[in-house]
Amino acid sequence: MCPEEELGTPAVIAVHDTTLGPAVGGVRFAPYPSIDAAVTECTRLAEGMTLKNAAAGLPFGGAKSVIVRNGPVDRTALMRSFARSVAELDGDYIPGVDVGTTIEDLALMEGIAPDVSCSREDPSPWTALGVLAGIRAAAAHLGEEDLRGVSVGVQGAGHVGAELVRLLSEEGADVRVSDIDLVRVASLVERYGATPVDPRSALFEPCDVFAPCAMAKVITAENAGSLNCRIVAGAANDTLATEDAADRLAESGVLYVPDFIVNAGGVIHIHALRQDWTDDELRAAVLEIGDRVGRILGDAETHGRLPLWAAKEVAHAALGRDREAVPAT
Ligand code: NAD
Repeated sequence: MCPEEELGTPAVIAVHDTTLGPAVGGVRFAPYPSIDAAVTECTRLAEGMTLKNAAAGLPFGGAKSVIVRNGPVDRTALMRSFARSVAELDGDYIPGVDVGTTIEDLALMEGIAPDVSCSREDPSPWTALGVLAGIRAAAAHLGEEDLRGVSVGVQGAGHVGAELVRLLSEEGADVRVSDIDLVRVASLVERYGATPVDPRSALFEPCDVFAPCAMAKVITAENAGSLNCRIVAGAANDTLATEDAADRLAESGVLYVPDFIVNAGGVIHIHALRQDWTDDELRAAVLEIGDRVGRILGDAETHGRLPLWAAKEVAHAALGRDREAVPAT
């Protein structure tokens, strides 16, 4: 917990694991019904970051932080106070941009937090490219030669979703897009010929691939059986509300590509910035997400288990926890 009297609002930093290096994870600035709810979400997202970074082969641990937004604030003072809490962790936590924060917010932490190198550029285009690679690999796993004519429902026309729509259109996919922000949808319809979809029913619209790129926990154990697609692969963190939603999807014949594998393009971009990689090096590393997805889906099929568990095993192996129990099915 960060000192509330200094920040003027509750905030929490969850460093889940530093086995592979300093823990990287975004700073979320959002309303929460209670501090307990903020702590629960922060801890869960931090664990997801550990899996994401490890499975992508990055020298980072996993973390997340949440600042509770419960009214008007002096944003500069807030971010600089928060940076002092980050500094107390002696470099174990590297904060990045997340829901509700911007590159400008992170810039306010410079000189106080030891390392804010995560936030120099928008990672979203690289996240979108990784999602595209994951969708291609999943479609190939189901026998599609390429994405021409493959229908993809993109939920969310924000930073990642809009770029994914552009990339999918270039590949000749039949792109459908939904967002509660209808102006964003209209712009993608005009620019790329995407088909608009009602955001209230987008989850259940018939399509080959459903790509959640909006918010967390869209698929629950209750609604998983009503999806009308063959593949779920998208950028949203924490797509599944609970792990048994993965079982329900599999029972309905839907191939779920774990979010922490397919949305790693953004953290790979962070690594590239810190290593001064060229764009070509970065692009090659992000496209490897497709190879990883192909291997995970192949492994899951061979061993008759869910891709979710095959993916967790990849992360656990990178963390040196090969023997950690992973259910067979
Ligand atoms: P964003 O805020 O730019 O876009 C999110 C979009 O979702 C907005 O346009 C918003 O209006 C829309 N939206 C909200 N509720 C909706 C609903 N009910 N139905 C349809 N649309 C809805 O966010 P982003 O940066 O594009 O990230 C999208 C998702 O991907 C988030 O879950 C984020 O955590 C995850 N993610 C992003 C990155 C990245 O590089 N930006 C990396 C990893 C994961």
